[in-house]
Amino acid sequence: MTRTVDFEALISDRARSVDASGIRKVFELGAKLKNPINFSIGQPDFAVPQAIKQATIDAISRDRNGYTLTQGVPDLLGSISRHLKDDVGWAVPSDDLGLLATSGTSGALWLAFIAVLNAGDEAIVSDPYFVLYPALGQVTGARVVACDTYPDFRLTAERVEPLITPRTKIVLVNSPGNPSGVVLSNAEWRDLVDLCERRGLLLISDEIYDQFTYADARENGACPSPARMTENMLLVRGFGKTYGCTGWRMGYVAGPKPIIQQMQKLQQYTYVCPPSMAQYGLAGAFEVDMTPQIEAYQRRRDAVLEAFEGVTTVEPPGGAFYAFVEVPRHLDMTASAFCERAIERNVLLIPGKVFSRRDSHFRLSYAVPEETLARGLDILVDLMQRN
Ligand code: PMP
Repeated sequence: MTRTVDFEALISDRARSVDASGIRKVFELGAKLKNPINFSIGQPDFAVPQAIKQATIDAISRDRNGYTLTQGVPDLLGSISRHLKDDVGWAVPSDDLGLLATSGTSGALWLAFIAVLNAGDEAIVSDPYFVLYPALGQVTGARVVACDTYPDFRLTAERVEPLITPRTKIVLVNSPGNPSGVVLSNAEWRDLVDLCERRGLLLISDEIYDQFTYADARENGACPSPARMTENMLLVRGFGKTYGCTGWRMGYVAGPKPIIQQMQKLQQYTYVCPPSMAQYGLAGAFEVDMTPQIEAYQRRRDAVLEAFEGVTTVEPPGGAFYAFVEVPRHLDMTASAFCERAIERNVLLIPGKVFSRRDSHFRLSYAVPEETLARGLDILVDLMQRN
């Protein structure tokens, strides 16, 4: 075909400013390896519970395949509403609080950033961060300010406060955190809530891994959440990780009505509505007990910590299914170089520079079968003990 138009020249600065996800690059590499030990995957390895699968299939069979209300179907919204009442004590929707079902947690975060930020406004996130966060800024023309949280990966009020400027509007916090698995305590949340309220900032809590909070990081049996302290925030949660249905693209957001209303308007013109069959299918999800799966992940987390004990430093993850492992300093190499060595031994990891301005750690996802985890950990420990 003769190219009569220079399509490259048409690409926006906005699109150019976003780097292709470093995770995708490892994903593509992995596709070329034969049977790799894949520690790069950001999703659970268990199947969607049968009751949820069946409810979704039934929704398709019952012809629930058209557009839904922008904010989500009443069955789903009702069950989220009951869950939030039980879990954090919020009454949503109310005169003050709105609720929106979204196309994944990502959908909620995009809409929040578009609804709140003008070009040049600022949002503070932790470094290391989830890969989406910088892109949220690049596309909206806002500045995403990364707060260094090494070596314990705790985004505390004390670390955030010096970064606040007259342009700051958002503090986006992710606990349990990707890539570190670190879980903030209620005391740390209290300080963040106070800081955001005192300085007039929107606190966004990305709690996509809330169910993956292990016994030692839970307080009063639950994942610590600022939502139990204030309603002056956006609470963002998802279904994909908890129920193993990341491909269904389902999440939700609750928070101050003026913001949720703007997000709902924007959803109408972007995602339109979350996938209809998944909305019906997940309406009963909160009744499914995921404790056995979560406990299995806690055992894997313990196996990771045990393997690296005395070999290298790992900040103990309280949740999610990641560990952010330091490359032993005696090796004198970047995490990227270490990850290349691991690939030579058929092990896939994500180098820290994908999540950070530093390249000293790697992310290991232990959402893999126990036997695979054990084999991979042996290889990594062997690589670390070499000179
Ligand atoms: N936030 C964090 C911290 C995540 O790790 C992920 C997924 N890896 C997302 C948001 C996006 O999740 P979803 O698939 O629900 O869009």
